[in-house]
Amino acid sequence: MNEFQLIEKFFKQPKKNAILGIGDDAAIIPKNEKDYLLLSVDTLSIDSHFTKQSDPYYLGWKALAVNISDIVAMGGVPTFALLSLTVEEINKKWLSKFSQGIKACAKKYNVELIGGDTNRGSMSVSVTIIGDSPRKNVLTRSAAKINDDIWISDEIGYAHLGFALSKHGPTMSNCLKKRALQAFLKPEPPMNFILDNKKYMHAAIDISDGLVSELEHITVEQKLGAKIDVDSIPMHKWFKEHNNQELALTGGEDYQILFTANKKNRNKINNSLKKNKLKGGVIGTITNSKKVEFEHKGKLVNYKKGGFKHFG
Ligand code: ADP
Ligand code: MG
Repeated sequence: MNEFQLIEKFFKQPKKNAILGIGDDAAIIPKNEKDYLLLSVDTLSIDSHFTKQSDPYYLGWKALAVNISDIVAMGGVPTFALLSLTVEEINKKWLSKFSQGIKACAKKYNVELIGGDTNRGSMSVSVTIIGDSPRKNVLTRSAAKINDDIWISDEIGYAHLGFALSKHGPTMSNCLKKRALQAFLKPEPPMNFILDNKKYMHAAIDISDGLVSELEHITVEQKLGAKIDVDSIPMHKWFKEHNNQELALTGGEDYQILFTANKKNRNKINNSLKKNKLKGGVIGTITNSKKVEFEHKGKLVNYKKGGFKHFG
């Protein structure tokens, strides 16, 4: 049983007052006649997501950033956060750096830390985030339309390389190392780009579990398909040189946004990507084939779903 089957079997239930319950990057509940509130929680636990050696500043940053990503994926603006922290002991140096990291991320995205919980135990950091979106253009995973362009907001794969570097270290240039570690340790969800362009977007999802696996969330439930041109997916030339595009497509922790939009908006979105200094682009099309096909050098290829799975 994997984590999605677990959620489905034990926790999924019909929504009552929520606009959208379990199953998207964040839940949607009514705020007022014009706006929705968006809510999500994400936890980083010792040994699954970080180790005792992890830099506490970046852990603080990332704990909030991964939650901001879920709000951004819904087309929302993050507003408030609550922090639940479990530590084995009071280590002032560690706590000082950790708090600096989470505060720096909160400042960048204008999020206010308004509460939380503190416990002793095996280390874990859990953030609950609240965001806002006008009702008229909240983004969900399930709004793709046949013939939509499929887009990615920036180059992918860096975070997985950064993760690999933190373990065993494949050889690469210093410049690429720096970029990979930056992506892995200090993700920066592309909030301004999404807010500027959400009027053009249909479906959206963050690719925290890897592009291949997240693309399925957009297509499967809606009984749609997708055709992806692997050679057009923006990624560093390292992946091509090592003939390992699969790593970029299946590796998790890229907090970029996969979205779909009508082809007629291509120029406007491309211009906005440039303006936001993002190297994203169109990577494929939504089809009615009910399957996700990846074409690489003119041939269809199969990729494992990849991404981090807690179970199974
Ligand atoms: P994400 O990767 O975007 O943070 P997840 O893959 O963790 O989302 O979760 C998928 C969906 O299942 C989300 O809508 C999330 O809110 C929901 N979910 C996850 N765990 C639970 C749980 N234990 N109980 C209820 N809902 C859950
Ligand atoms: Mg998500």
